[in-house]
Order: sequence, then C-alpha cells, then structure tokens
Amino acid sequence: MHSIFYYSHELATYDFGPDHPFKPERAQKTFELCRRYGVLDLQHMTLKDPPALEHEKLLLAHSEDYLEALRRVGQGEIFKEMLSFGIGPEDNPPLRGIYDWSRRCAGATWDGMIELLDKDTDIIFNPLGGFHHAFRSQAAGFCYINDIVIAIREALNHGLKITYMDIDAHHGDAVQDAFYREDGVQFISIHESGQYLYPYSGSVEESGDGKGEGFTVNIPLPPKTDDEVYLEVFHRIVLPLVKGFRPDVLVAQLGADTLVSDPLTDLMLTNNSYTEIVRELKGLCGKILATGGGGYDIYRTARCWTLAWAILNDVEPRDEFAGLVGGMMFGPEVEVSSLYDRPYTVKGPDKDKIRQEVDRTIRYLIRRHHLR
Ligand SMILES: [Zn+2]
Repeated sequence: MHSIFYYSHELATYDFGPDHPFKPERAQKTFELCRRYGVLDLQHMTLKDPPALEHEKLLLAHSEDYLEALRRVGQGEIFKEMLSFGIGPEDNPPLRGIYDWSRRCAGATWDGMIELLDKDTDIIFNPLGGFHHAFRSQAAGFCYINDIVIAIREALNHGLKITYMDIDAHHGDAVQDAFYREDGVQFISIHESGQYLYPYSGSVEESGDGKGEGFTVNIPLPPKTDDEVYLEVFHRIVLPLVKGFRPDVLVAQLGADTLVSDPLTDLMLTNNSYTEIVRELKGLCGKILATGGGGYDIYRTARCWTLAWAILNDVEPRDEFAGLVGGMMFGPEVEVSSLYDRPYTVKGPDKDKIRQEVDRTIRYLIRRHHLR
C-alpha cells in the first residue's frame, strides 16, 4: 500500500479576499490537524508538492479562449470579455495569480491520477482540489479549472473505468456535463436539491444521454436532511450502483459543506455520517483519488478531511498533544477532546416530510436502475 497527500503552504495561503467564502486556508488547517494527529508521518505515505499543469493537459477540460482569458486575468488584466467567461465581481473574482494557482491545484489531482496508474499506489488525497463547477469555457461557483474532469479524461485515455462520487452539498454540475453522453464514467452526485441550492440542477431525471444513458445518477435531498436519512440513501442506492459498475478508480469529491454548521447550505449532517461514507467508499474500490471541495466552516471542514485521510489510510488519528497544558487548541475549545461531532438527529414533522420526499427519490432510482 502506498498513499500520497498533496500539499503546498503557498497554495493554501492564497487569498480570495476577506469577503469571499472560499478559504484555501482550510487545506492548511487540515495539514496542521493531520500533523497533530500523527497521520502525516505514516510509513507508507508520501507528501508531495502540487506540480503546475501544462497547457496541453488543461485542454482536456477547457477551451483555448477560456484559458487565454484566465491567463490574462491572472496577470492582473481586467477586460470586458472576461464576464462572458464567468469571471467578474461576484463568485469568481478576477484574482491576480489565479491562473497559476488553479493550474497547480489541478496539477495535484492530475498527478495523483498518474500515480494511481502505477500498481503500487492506492490512495491519493488533494485537499486543494475538487473544483466541480468549472465548465469548459466558464468559471462558476468559486471554480476556475476543473481538476476532476482533467484527471478523469486522463484516466479514460489510459483505458480505465471511473466512478465519480460527489458528496459535496452542491450538485457536481460541470463534471456531469463533461461526461453526460459517455459510458466510461459512472457519475454519482448526492446533494441538496437544486430546488433550493446553487447550481439549481441535479434532479433525479438527469440520468445521461445517448450511450451515457443511465451512467449519470443524481440524488437530490431536501434541506434539513440528517445523518440517518443520508446514510439510508447511500446504502440503498450508491453501494449497489458502484458494486455493479466495478470501477478501476473511484474519484471522490469530498466537499464538507453538508455539515449542519455550514453557512452556505441547509443539510444537517455531522461528520459521523461523513466518515461512515468515506469508510464505505474505501471498501468499494482498491484505488481512490480523493479531493477536497466545498466546506465553509473551515475548522469542521479540516476535521472532516483529517478523518477522511486517516480512514483512507486505515489508521486511527490520535492526539499527540493530548493532556498537555497549554497545548494547541483547535476550533471551538469544547470540541477539542474529539475529532468527531456529537450525534444530531432531526425530529418531528420536518423529519416526516423529509422521509416521504427521500423515499420517493429512492423508489424512483431503484426502478430506474433496476436495483431490485
Ligand atoms: Zn459545495
């Protein structure tokens, strides 16, 4: 077994600005927490610096026009046409350095896939990746370069069969779009329903087209969905689908914005279900390429990603500094004793409504994919 953790302090301290919810700093918090819990000095692992992706590889997911616009923006140019590429004052600001930053974040995911082609490497984690909203010629949802599409394209060119599993609270729209008409990629996204949340897509009816028919699977969930309901959906739909497809590599976008504390979404998960899912995914495929993704409560996101890394490596995180007076405090002090959240369950009429809605979705998908 060999695993690789990609990290760069320089990339993790890149700043989208004080008012922007996207904080690359989460990767730094994850790195520090992993270190503190003794899961960055494992014998079988390598720590690797993200390489910058070459232009030719960027073309696996993006158009020349778009890349040229992004390159100019990265050099500090501001021009009217950038708006037509989704770059503007709101979600995707014209940041100096954004081209090189994105190229290296994506470089880690791509390099991870290349490493997995080697038979001795099984586990990859890039907490600076997972930009599932970046389209071919359009920046969107804080995403500029779609590292996931690039890495999957590379894998397809090597003849591999890929399952893409997206547990971010938002629908993985641009990844879906890239492979919608193909049968080499099984796309599964479990997310807060597009009726309520950006990017307003990902309904159960979106299930692929042409020879890709049936290879796209969307599982939208109502606001306030909790661990119990989430795990039921995962067990009844995702497990049998992935087992049936038998991928060579499982690409997992591990966005942590499904947590009850996340300021941008309305799902109510704790990291107990989050980690249970990571454990199950690990059991589904021998080779896993995991990326970060959303996660706007940065401390809890770092805890999720630390736990995910430990689980993917079959180790238990242990606090090397526990009991030290004046030891480092991490996040809310009361929670320092454990990386795991307290259980949380939604009850009452809300829960009944959620159950009914989710049961309908489960029945639909079971029929649609002949799961029984
Ligand atoms: Zn998200």
